[in-house]
Amino acid sequence: MSEHLHQVPAEALDAADPLRHFRDQFLLPRHGDGEQAYFCGNSLGLQPRGVRDALLQELDDWAALGVEAHFHGRHPWMPYHNEVRDGLAHIAGALPSEVVAMNSLTANLHLLMVSFYRPTAERPAILIEAGAFPSDRHAVATQIRFHGFDPARDLIELEPDEPNGTISLAAIDRVLGEHGHRIALVLWPGVQYRTGQAFDLAAITRLAHARGCRVGFDLAHAAGNLPLALHDSGADFAAWCSYKYLNAGPGAVAGAFVHERHARADLPRFAGWWGHDQATRFKMGPEFVPTPGADGWQLSNPPILALAPLRVSLELFGRAGLPALREKSEKLTAYLEALVRARLPDVLDIVTPAEPERRGCQLSLRVRGGRDQGRALFEHLVAQGIVGDWREPDVIRISPVPLYNQFADVRRFIAAVEAWAAPAGAVA
Ligand SMILES: *Cc1c(COP(=O)(O)O)cnc(C)c1O
Repeated sequence: MSEHLHQVPAEALDAADPLRHFRDQFLLPRHGDGEQAYFCGNSLGLQPRGVRDALLQELDDWAALGVEAHFHGRHPWMPYHNEVRDGLAHIAGALPSEVVAMNSLTANLHLLMVSFYRPTAERPAILIEAGAFPSDRHAVATQIRFHGFDPARDLIELEPDEPNGTISLAAIDRVLGEHGHRIALVLWPGVQYRTGQAFDLAAITRLAHARGCRVGFDLAHAAGNLPLALHDSGADFAAWCSYKYLNAGPGAVAGAFVHERHARADLPRFAGWWGHDQATRFKMGPEFVPTPGADGWQLSNPPILALAPLRVSLELFGRAGLPALREKSEKLTAYLEALVRARLPDVLDIVTPAEPERRGCQLSLRVRGGRDQGRALFEHLVAQGIVGDWREPDVIRISPVPLYNQFADVRRFIAAVEAWAAPAGAVA
């Protein structure tokens, strides 16, 4: 069927979709009398319907119980972060003790680098991909400076070696072969935000560990997008945000992973009372005794109002199951790809790798004709209620997500691009 996928009607695919009812669990932004075709889950996932009640519940418990809600609320606040632990473990492919919900993504990267970036004069460098998300680059460059080293020399940014700006495993192997002896940390994306390329985390970990480097992953665009196997990958640490594919709302509480082998290690860290061993935390003693596992990296008691949406959202992932979500996701993105290739070859070039194992749901589409054409197309789509996002100078990212997108959304996108291109004579 796959070579004729572009000829299959969206209605048939939607009718056969076992996850189609999950769309009803989300609030879809409106466009006129209908709904948007929302492809921006890579930036801000949509609101699960259950979030409003979950928030009201916390407000009600606060109103009715005050401080007692720490113990006697419907979802007691004291152990609240435990309520998202199993869900996060499912998302991360990790042991429950390896994950924790805390802080924000960039904050977690810094905190974890305090423990896992320990540069020496012989081994001061960090390896990232060229064109990394600015926050990640700021984080690593300032970490390098903080330790008295110089990013101009000690931040190694691997340039893409593939035609569309993607990076082969061979290129990662080569740079590690050449510079591995002076690299303290490899900080790599699970899915690169701009190209949509997914990486083999286990393979990268193996290559980097073989050179004596520590390995951390930024999973901002991977968490909730691809099934992960962080524990088995052997990575030292990882961090991700929860407002993209995890649908936990703007600025939601982020996630962190620390591999089990570091659970009881005596690592340097910036500590706070919430990371202190739970059994003795409220003895309020002066010495810090870390909780074993990822929990030991917590600083503060968590923002309950920001955790409640994550709890609701993770329940949906648990019900749908990541294997089923991935199966639908591969089909949705393959459908988008097949239609772009068949119907829009003169308008859009696909930047994202074609192999399903080298991408998540997102396709990065380069608009032919450059920036002005690209902007014009993007504005046209927005006016039609078709929401992707724009990356300078000429890329539109379209991310059909399996929890709430349908195959008909993909058809709408294709039809809108065709309508825009046809009068301009760009498509025969
Ligand atoms: C979205 C994203 C961020 C955002 O960082 P916050 O700390 O959540 O604001 C950082 N890095 C990457 C790779 C991202 O995709």
